[in-house]
Amino acid sequence: MITVSEALRLVLERAQPGGLRRVALVDAAEKVLAEDILCTIDSPPHDKSLVDGYAVQVADSKPGAVLRVLEQVTAGQVPTLPVTAGGATRIMTGAPIPSGADAVAMVERTELIPGPPEMVRIQDKQVRTGQNIMRRGESMRKGETVLARGHVLRGIEIGLLAELGVAELSTVATPTVAVLATGDELVPFEATPSAGQIRNSNGPMLRQLAAAAGCEAVDLGIARDTEIDHARWMRRGLESDVLLLSGGVSAGVLDLVPQQLGRLGVKQVFHKVDLRPGKPLWFGVIEHSDRPNQLVFGLPGNPVSGLVCFQLFVRPALAQMSGRAAEGMRQSTAVLAATTPPRSDRPTYFPGRATQRNGDWIVEPLSWRGSADLRTLANANVLIFFPTGPGAVEANDRVAIYWL
Ligand code: AMP
Ligand code: MG
Repeated sequence: MITVSEALRLVLERAQPGGLRRVALVDAAEKVLAEDILCTIDSPPHDKSLVDGYAVQVADSKPGAVLRVLEQVTAGQVPTLPVTAGGATRIMTGAPIPSGADAVAMVERTELIPGPPEMVRIQDKQVRTGQNIMRRGESMRKGETVLARGHVLRGIEIGLLAELGVAELSTVATPTVAVLATGDELVPFEATPSAGQIRNSNGPMLRQLAAAAGCEAVDLGIARDTEIDHARWMRRGLESDVLLLSGGVSAGVLDLVPQQLGRLGVKQVFHKVDLRPGKPLWFGVIEHSDRPNQLVFGLPGNPVSGLVCFQLFVRPALAQMSGRAAEGMRQSTAVLAATTPPRSDRPTYFPGRATQRNGDWIVEPLSWRGSADLRTLANANVLIFFPTGPGAVEANDRVAIYWL
């Protein structure tokens, strides 16, 4: 059986970034930029005041100097008069600096002497040249590269692009994802199961996990464990860039998924990973010469196994296909709060609850009933990693934890 890291390597080797997609600025959040963005403006567009105060000539603004107020300029207005010797222009934050002025004295360090004519007394201990002025183009200049392709667009970048007037831009297309649950025992979650049946929890879960990874996912519902139903729904699923199947990849008599995928032209890359939970994972690919590979994950039917496989393999693949680094779960180390039962013969990802104490993460293993027990996972914020080895892992041992 291959290891987790070997399996991940095989997945990522085949996960190719999508093509370009033009999107409106408002839809660009969390996407990856596919073009360099050149600056088309000088920012700020004019020398501007960084404070509310008085634009002055430094030579005239010794402490105690009294200057005549020439005019008032608020943000959005333009000055009409130069600042000359003995004069000052009342100016608000963001407004253009009048010609002749070489500093702005903060209003808090002045005293207004009512007029007419209005006068202002400078109380600043020292008004320095350029004080409280931001020069035109200080933040960015026409022609500079402001953002390079590959940059992930967060709220910050959306704001910056808005400043530049970019209404539409090229991003890396995120993969489309289809989710298909297989199993004769499954009913839609809205339905009431009869004897022997359970609800399809994987479908909605996987769809949500894909959405959280920034990908639009369609839930194709449930395929019965027959060749005809599998083929029909898998064909639909293969209209997407990524097909996430659940169930039918273990050793049961109705575990038909691998063989059916083979018939549909999906080439198996691996089946089974040395891992708990999640051992039955199946992964295959359809290679194309004219567009990115399509990836197919046959996730184990048990919900926790499916979740762990998604986090370990699908999430990094979706990230890489979206043009990002192949980020998986974030890792930290923590102190184990309690001794665990004897270890499995497979490397194990075990649900835990991590809390911070005196700057250290303390993690408590939860009382988990195995791969069908999604309920305990709802109380978990991490997966604790237990490598194989003899004996138990003891309380106070340091362990790796992966954030859910
Ligand atoms: P399988 O791999 O198809 O044998 O499924 C393994 C276990 O997971 C069985 O107990 C199934 O009933 C359960 N299971 C399979 N698919 C789902 C699903 N979509 N939602 C919840 N449980 C499932
Ligand atoms: Mg099944």
